[in-house]
Amino acid sequence: MAVSRKIVLHFPRRIVERAIVCRLAKDYDLEFNILKAFVTPEEEGLLVLELSGEQKEYDKGIKYLTETGVRIESLSQNFIRNEERCTHCGACITICPSGAFEVDPKTRLVSFDDEKCVACGLCIKACPPRAMEVHF
Ligand code: SF4
Ligand code: SF4
Repeated sequence: MAVSRKIVLHFPRRIVERAIVCRLAKDYDLEFNILKAFVTPEEEGLLVLELSGEQKEYDKGIKYLTETGVRIESLSQNFIRNEERCTHCGACITICPSGAFEVDPKTRLVSFDDEKCVACGLCIKACPPRAMEVHF
């Protein structure tokens, strides 16, 4: 069975990110698409990527990453909406490049689908009441 997941990799400073990710393709026949890469103020490397392949190889690839000291999180753990703050104003709908927000035509309520999020971060500043939060 083939799987495709968006994950966040946290690289300790000593690890060379690109070489490790390339081994996922070479040794485990996985396809990866880097969605975002940056370094935190603590100098931890962060890569947001979409990883696809056969479930068995995917699991092996994840095991390999963990053994090399990379911490892995699912993307949906990182971008969340604070439901108490959201006023359903809709400002995020046009700014989100992946269509993660949708307005219900009847209720006018805005829904957020974290599975569609590609971690661009645009909604964080665009949301007037600061309802969108990122947790790394
Ligand atoms: S911009 Fe913020 S407050 Fe407005 S609908 Fe989107 S998440 Fe809710
Ligand atoms: S981070 Fe980017 S892709 Fe994710 S919900 Fe916000 S605007 Fe959309």
